[in-house]
Amino acid sequence: MTENSKDKVIVRFPPSPTGRLHIGNIRSLLFNYLYAKKCGGDIVMRFEDTDEARSKKEYEDFALKTLSDLGLDFDRGPFRQSERKEFYRDAIETLIRNDKAFEAEEKEGGDGEKVIRFRNPNKIVTFVDTVKGEIKIDTTSFGDFVIARSKKSPLYHLTVVVDDIDMGVTDVIRGEDHVTSTPRQILLIEALGGNIPRYTHLPLIIGDDKKKLGKRHGAVTWNEFKGLGYLPEAIINYLALLGWNPGNGDEREIFSKEELINEFSLEKVNNSPATFSYIKLDDINRQWMLKLDKEKYYKKALEFISPKIRGRFEESKEKGQKIIEKVVRERISKFSEIIDMENENEFDYYFSNPVVADSDLVFKTDGLDKTLEILTKTSDILEKIPVNEWNFENLKNSLWDWSGEIGRGSVLHPLRTILTGAKRSPDPFTVMEILGKEESLGRINRRIS
Ligand code: GLU
Repeated sequence: MTENSKDKVIVRFPPSPTGRLHIGNIRSLLFNYLYAKKCGGDIVMRFEDTDEARSKKEYEDFALKTLSDLGLDFDRGPFRQSERKEFYRDAIETLIRNDKAFEAEEKEGGDGEKVIRFRNPNKIVTFVDTVKGEIKIDTTSFGDFVIARSKKSPLYHLTVVVDDIDMGVTDVIRGEDHVTSTPRQILLIEALGGNIPRYTHLPLIIGDDKKKLGKRHGAVTWNEFKGLGYLPEAIINYLALLGWNPGNGDEREIFSKEELINEFSLEKVNNSPATFSYIKLDDINRQWMLKLDKEKYYKKALEFISPKIRGRFEESKEKGQKIIEKVVRERISKFSEIIDMENENEFDYYFSNPVVADSDLVFKTDGLDKTLEILTKTSDILEKIPVNEWNFENLKNSLWDWSGEIGRGSVLHPLRTILTGAKRSPDPFTVMEILGKEESLGRINRRIS
């Protein structure tokens, strides 16, 4: 499979299936993806499952589902290191034959347990990291490090290096926590006669408390973000900005995947830690949500409404769509906020006539008689608006001047209350537009007659 024509970029997606792919992994994969697409390169997918006790099929499936949901497709694979053992055995044998590795007791003066150790040339390894610049490390302190438990059970650094060589990897783009792996891996590549790839170590992602991003900061997997109602486009957009920006004073924040591919370059990756901000993510998600067309938005929104209320939305789709378009869309930054709206009973009054106490109807010191008089006049004015002109603008215009004269609260408070029965709700014009003429006037007239 060796494929290393000089100019073709080849990157890798190499998750270890020992846990659920998390946001840090996804950011690394995304940067690989953007770079490969930008260069017309290929992406090789492989599961680094050398730790057989901790690797699980379930985590592989989880990773693949995450990638497909986010549209991070790859060109080759998925391979599994557990299915490529002959490559590692060959490499171990080659290294031993060339006296670059040797069998030895696991511990000095040990109990007969043998391992394979790398014959460390004890030199200074120098490499130029795209982000961090030149890095020099004296490898002497590593000693003759263990590269395999036996010819049949290679350890992590060896499998990575054998695969990178075999798969023709030109660029290793990974989290900064792997910087310390690099000198060992370079020594092994040199010993195996492979080409050293270009290394790019991405800055750490930290929470707003400056600590490494983790569970206590909130969601960590794509599944969790999806459950909260974040869109794939928003996650991709936001993760791309964690450690990268287009530079040259470009202040844009919203990028489609195609735009990211266009703009992306490894040279613009930052060296300092990237802070994960839910405020920024929510803002970006909100903007992506606003781009969704009416049907898509409605369908997605209904996923977050309980079956009980969902039934009502489905029974009167026109009204349901209006609620989503006029009340929900402008307000929320992620779909799960609909759950809070439902819990605050913010949808009930569109589907059933609320019971309203006289005392709630009255605005400040107006008194019940005056309030009912105002509602009667309000009803008369609204009655004149034809059904096909019953919309926010016309409703507002019809009451605006008069309510301005006698005090807006005196008109709008009882009107809103009679329609919704709620302490908090959208303005009465929005509510009336959603309810329609017959239902709106019905609610008012039943009370004043
Ligand atoms: N399997 C490693 C991980 O998931 C990949 C590290 C690398 O990119 O070399 O962290």
